[in-house]
Amino acid sequence: MATRPALALILFVLATTLLPAQSGDSPYVIRDVRVFDGETVAERQTVVISQGKIAAVGGINIAVPAGAQEVVGERRTLLPGLIDSHIHLPFVNPADALQQNLAFGVTTTVVMWAAPPLVSQVKALADRPDVAAALIAGTGATAPGGHPTQMDPQAARFIPTLHSPGEADAFVAARVAEGSEFIKIIFDDTSEAYARTLPTLDEATVAEIVNSAHTHDRIAVAHIGSERFARGAIAAGVDGLAHLFVGPTVSADFGRFAASRGVFVIPTLSVLYSICGRSDGPDFLKEPDTMKFVKPQFRPLLEMPATPSKVSCDAAPQAIRQLVAANVPVLAGTDAPAPGLTYGASLHRELEHLVSAGLTPTAALVAATSATAQAFRMSDRGRIRPGMRAHLLIVDGDPAKQIRDTRNIVAIWKRGVRVQRSSD
Ligand SMILES: [Zn+2]
Repeated sequence: MATRPALALILFVLATTLLPAQSGDSPYVIRDVRVFDGETVAERQTVVISQGKIAAVGGINIAVPAGAQEVVGERRTLLPGLIDSHIHLPFVNPADALQQNLAFGVTTTVVMWAAPPLVSQVKALADRPDVAAALIAGTGATAPGGHPTQMDPQAARFIPTLHSPGEADAFVAARVAEGSEFIKIIFDDTSEAYARTLPTLDEATVAEIVNSAHTHDRIAVAHIGSERFARGAIAAGVDGLAHLFVGPTVSADFGRFAASRGVFVIPTLSVLYSICGRSDGPDFLKEPDTMKFVKPQFRPLLEMPATPSKVSCDAAPQAIRQLVAANVPVLAGTDAPAPGLTYGASLHRELEHLVSAGLTPTAALVAATSATAQAFRMSDRGRIRPGMRAHLLIVDGDPAKQIRDTRNIVAIWKRGVRVQRSSD
């Protein structure tokens, strides 16, 4: 949502030197570990990592390749690498943002808007072992003068916009040609979250963009800011909502309505709470174990003073309880780097917010792993089973019981390569 102040700050701060990745791709064996496999928990497992993939999961008798490095699993939990399903990247050194994500065990990110030069930059980083992977939307679909063009009138001149349903197919085809892996749609006049009403697409155009996206074998997700637009986007056929909405209340049938249309929802409570004047920034600043992995250029976002807000965030947890009751997939996403948020750490905080809003700790872990992989069609990750990419995270404790234990990171692997965290 409020990404422009974030980007402005980032652009003014010099980037720090990139850290070298630990080289090597030796096999690993993790013994006697509790495994959250993306869905459920199994105790006392042995997991073998080899050639970038999960080679085996089982009891003490499974075959272990010669020379495998041993990792102690006792009193620890192995998880699929976490996925943040809603982030944005700075134009300057996007690798820094992806590196910070990885240092917090976020091995995959979903980038919710990016101009073509940024798409190319991010794709060029894909094979680097020291940065999180990224699934990327290119330029989002919006109306002339619509969100987020108000954030940067200069850049807005170069953002292609749509007036009518007849333009949808050409718009989507152009985005696919630019490398969009899914289609982002802005359906929001921003009047609920900000005291300003902007133009937005009509529902017929949203529906036609969704149709075109599906024709091009892409899913379509919508940025919305109020229940009215959320319902409109769902009625227009979107696959998922990139946010929940602010406001004091939600209609009693919202969860059932979302379930009836088969959508997934990324609540992004972290950014909603920031808009409502309840930023997580001050807490992060008091946590040395968090701040030692926050790169200097991202620190000012956490130091931004909380602006008093009359906007209510009461609707969001109510809506989440309805979505859970209606079995709607809820995904963990942050909208980092909005004010008060930071890459990686905010995903761990989002999991805590989701648990406070009514998810079980296990459901919150599902929201950051298998549910997101499934929603965004990333069939090679989000679960611990043979053949999947070895994007992994091992933590002290049991986050399926105590969600804060996701923060107790012992080791991270991206495609089987152990990640050197910046302060290790
Ligand atoms: Zn966003």
